[in-house]
Amino acid sequence: MGKCYRSDTDSDRDSSYRKVLSPVSSLKGVGKVIARELHKRGVQTVYDLLYVLPRSYQDRRKFVPIHEIRSGESALIKGKIRELRRVRPRYRTMLEIVVGNEKGIISARWMGAPRYLFRFRKGEEIVLFGHFRRSVKMLETYHPEIIEVGDEHETGRLLPVYPEIEGIPQRRIRRIIIDAVDRFTQNLEDPLPRRIREAAQLSELGEAIKEVHFPCESRPEDLRIRRSPAQRRLIFDEFFMLQLALALKKSKASRERGIAFGIQGTEELYRSLPFELTGSQTRVIREIMRDMGRPFPMNRLLQGDVGCGKTVVALIAAWVVVRNGYQVAFMAPTQLLAEQHYLSTLELTRRMNLKAALLTSGMGTHADDVRDGVRRGTIDIVIGTHALIQESVRFHRLGLAIIDEQHRFGVAQRAVLKQKGISPDVLTMTATPIPRTLGLTVYGDLDISVIDELPPGRKPIQTRLFHERDRSKVHAMLSDEIRKERQAYVVYPLIEKSEKMDLKDATQMAEELRGVLPDFHIGLIHGRMPLDQREGIMEAFKKGTIDILVSTTVIEVGIDIPNATMMVIENAERFGLSQIHQLRGRVRRSVYPSKCLLLASYRKTDGARRRLGVIEKTTDGFRIAEEDLAIRGPGELLGERQSGFYQFRVANLMRDAEILSEAREGAFRLVEADPGLAHRTYNLLRELFGGGQRHWDEFVDVA
Ligand code: ADP
Ligand code: MG
Repeated sequence: MGKCYRSDTDSDRDSSYRKVLSPVSSLKGVGKVIARELHKRGVQTVYDLLYVLPRSYQDRRKFVPIHEIRSGESALIKGKIRELRRVRPRYRTMLEIVVGNEKGIISARWMGAPRYLFRFRKGEEIVLFGHFRRSVKMLETYHPEIIEVGDEHETGRLLPVYPEIEGIPQRRIRRIIIDAVDRFTQNLEDPLPRRIREAAQLSELGEAIKEVHFPCESRPEDLRIRRSPAQRRLIFDEFFMLQLALALKKSKASRERGIAFGIQGTEELYRSLPFELTGSQTRVIREIMRDMGRPFPMNRLLQGDVGCGKTVVALIAAWVVVRNGYQVAFMAPTQLLAEQHYLSTLELTRRMNLKAALLTSGMGTHADDVRDGVRRGTIDIVIGTHALIQESVRFHRLGLAIIDEQHRFGVAQRAVLKQKGISPDVLTMTATPIPRTLGLTVYGDLDISVIDELPPGRKPIQTRLFHERDRSKVHAMLSDEIRKERQAYVVYPLIEKSEKMDLKDATQMAEELRGVLPDFHIGLIHGRMPLDQREGIMEAFKKGTIDILVSTTVIEVGIDIPNATMMVIENAERFGLSQIHQLRGRVRRSVYPSKCLLLASYRKTDGARRRLGVIEKTTDGFRIAEEDLAIRGPGELLGERQSGFYQFRVANLMRDAEILSEAREGAFRLVEADPGLAHRTYNLLRELFGGGQRHWDEFVDVA
């Protein structure tokens, strides 16, 4: 246990929650310069500052006797200066101070002999905190911190170490935070209702903040793994507030009026399908139907690996909607995908007796006919890109919006589509598996259905990692595959922000392959080609006149060519696991065994090696997503579009999954029991969430 900081001041305290939102510049010691540096780090208010939490703690609770210091550990020591001298190893001057007694000595060293050290004299007492290592002769420490003898603040406790903030020394940050803690945490109004706090065994907010900054009851072991009671409380808080916002949003949406579709008769439809639905598919259809039958708008996310059969599920929902006299909009993120969806669903829509049409911006005058049909209601289901949300598109009676790869659309775009009807149901789909914890935060207000099984007969894809020097092996495997009358992709996923670079690589590769495999037809496709040219190439690939298709990431999602059974991914080490996983899903479309060959350069980092190892061994999208989350963090995993993603200050989705569940349960139960937060113990919560002025609001809109 550490020594507890005692407040310097008794007056000048402010415990109301609002006051915590006053600017940092109102604190002692925060002038213009420091305020500016803090602002740069996103610290505007005292509240923000209180949440600049220590990244670690130095154990300065007691002086370690010099002979008990262990190599590799940090320690606070006190001793007499036995020697003080300049030494000159190689080229730079170094100052050495030897400290100790009969039982042991240590050497403290400073490069460049800083002037302030020259005030020390032999025989004088010195206090140091440093990291010690054993060298040949004795324990050494480089650039230890010198602490004034008798300093009460910097010793005798677990000392917080804050993230580096440019231009503000640690000691200074500590002083400023002490001031903030002193003035604002005593009896700080706590938004977390007492009942919840007690149920989860959490301390009070002010106490917790103080304890996290200046631990006096926490154990260093707990602090290190972020599990001291105070840390737990702050982690809980952060999850709780976000979950509460989500729960409120969901509760509000569920009270809106929606369309209650008649959902009978789907069994008869099943019989008209060319295949039998998997257990997973029937389960999620049941979930979707339950939503659709209710008089509230559906807001459901359908999640499942590439090729698991989401589209047919969506079409069954569409069929129900059309039977009820409504229309369906099916929005995909790219032209290619929209076209692909349209073409690949033609057979199904025909069997289901649905009038489908395609609407993209590159369609010319034919688009007018489509828009007309949509307006008059002669088209049942319109599949398209962003073109669907243009002003000029009016629906006769929109009942369901299906949004594919929803994370590639912004919140606003999804909202616009929804507004083309009157409270239509919304079914979003994603092939990006998302770890449960992340799903609960970004899609926390959605209902989630998961297809976790592939249509029968699919062989698991074999993935193998190759190095640049094995390129000829890869060529041989390609050649074997084509001789078996199969087809292959060679992909350059997006590396640079611009597609230019990839294009160069892809073009070169196509040339190279033509040289190496002269007997085969090698095609090239990229996003900068005009649409009709791309269509021509896709058509040729589909018909089999192209054997190997070299491409940039334009084929990333949705392409459906069962005869393509091999995929080579270039520069594999540079990509996220989920991205590779999605890409390789392209060649798992058929009953033929399929292979994915990853080509990585020599200069692989350890992280890349570990990553590619995971992708080589497992085909479980969720495991891969977990791994991806651990390696890259949530922002990267979700992609740029999900810019509203809430950046946790304290919590960590990997580490704190359990606390998240607890907080979510608490928040949802609270809203269920009291959706208006009317009870008087929720006063502060109501104030924070009622007026929409709090920052939570920007983050709960992401899904
Ligand atoms: P997703 O959209 O999830 O990537 P799709 O819906 O495009 O997957 O389905 C991939 C392929 O599997 C399509 O050709 C589709 O017709 C087929 N398919 C879907 N469900 C089944 C099933 N239950 N049995 C056999 N094939 C199926
Ligand atoms: Mg699909």
